[in-house]
Amino acid sequence: MSDTVWTPEHFIGGHPAIDFTNTVFTRHMPDDDNDLLNSPRDVGNWFQFAGLATEGQADAISGILDPFFMKCVQELREASFSVFDALAADNPPAPDALGVLFDKAAKGFSTHRLRPRRTYAASEIAHFDDPKAIIAFLAAMSVEASIVLPRQRLRACPRCGWLFVDTSRGGRRRWCSMQTCGNREKASRHRVRVDFT
Ligand SMILES: [Zn+2]
Repeated sequence: MSDTVWTPEHFIGGHPAIDFTNTVFTRHMPDDDNDLLNSPRDVGNWFQFAGLATEGQADAISGILDPFFMKCVQELREASFSVFDALAADNPPAPDALGVLFDKAAKGFSTHRLRPRRTYAASEIAHFDDPKAIIAFLAAMSVEASIVLPRQRLRACPRCGWLFVDTSRGGRRRWCSMQTCGNREKASRHRVRVDFT
C-alpha cells in the first residue's frame, strides 16, 4: 500500500486531536481502503505535517517495528473519534471510550515516557522522546482537547463525518471544507435536479 500523502485538506479540524480523528477517508459508508493511517510511516509523516514532531522524531516513528503499533494507533483514534463525535452531537461520550483515552495518557505519564511540559499551550500538554510514547501523547492531547475545546463549536461534516471546531465568527460552518464536501454536495444536488426534471 502506498504512503498517504498528507495535504492541508487533511488538517481542517482546528486542533491536532480533531485532525487525528479525521485520518480516515470518510465516516459514512467507508469501503475497504478507508484508512489513511496504514503504516508507521503514515503516522510519522502525519506527526510531522501536523507540526507535532521534528523530522528526526517522525523518522523514529516511521521506523517502529512493533506489529501491534498500528492497531494501537487505530484503536486510540476510534476511541477519540467516539468521544468527539458524541460531544459534537451534544451527547455525553461513552465511558469506555473516554476511559481508553485517560488510561493510555495515564500510562504514558506513570512510566515517564511522557513528560508534562513546563508551560501549557493547546495540544502541548506533554512531550515525548521515545517514539512509542506517541500513543500516550495522542491520548493526553485528546484528553486535554476533550476538556478545553468549546463543545458548542464542535461539528461533524454531514457529508463525510469528519469533525472540526467551527471557529468562524458567526458559527455557521457546515462542511469540513467547501472544496471537498460543500461543493460536492451542491454538485450532487444539482445533478439530482437535472436528472429528475
Ligand atoms: Zn466533509
